[in-house]
Amino acid sequence: MSDLYSDVLLDHFRLPRNRGMLEDSTLTVEGKNPLCGDEMVLHLRVENGQITDIRFEGTGCAISMASASMLTEDLKGRTLDEVDARIAQFRSFIRDGNQPEGEDLGDMIALSGVSKLPVRVKCATLPWTTLEEARRRMK
Ligand code: ZN
Repeated sequence: MSDLYSDVLLDHFRLPRNRGMLEDSTLTVEGKNPLCGDEMVLHLRVENGQITDIRFEGTGCAISMASASMLTEDLKGRTLDEVDARIAQFRSFIRDGNQPEGEDLGDMIALSGVSKLPVRVKCATLPWTTLEEARRRMK
């Protein structure tokens, strides 16, 4: 397990980006990973087809919390079309280790060791499945 906990991952776990309430959110969605006990809430503010702000709250293992922190950092300011592309890219990356062509995964690359551990994949994808639920509710 130790090589899973890279410095980048631990940094996001210890100093999470965009953690907390979002007073003027337009959508709030909850997600759970019962296998590990991870729970989270995503708060989004969506205006004119763009995520203008995003925050998360929750409790769980280092991987789920770090992944949520990375997600918020990656998606803030993106259009919903970009968000949908990012969901597909992240799924392919975390399941099969594929890196998207011509796209930078940023700090999320620190989760690359997770794809070899099926139980941990659910931790890393929890914020993304929660985001997908949010996308369904927008449609
Ligand atoms: Zn977990």
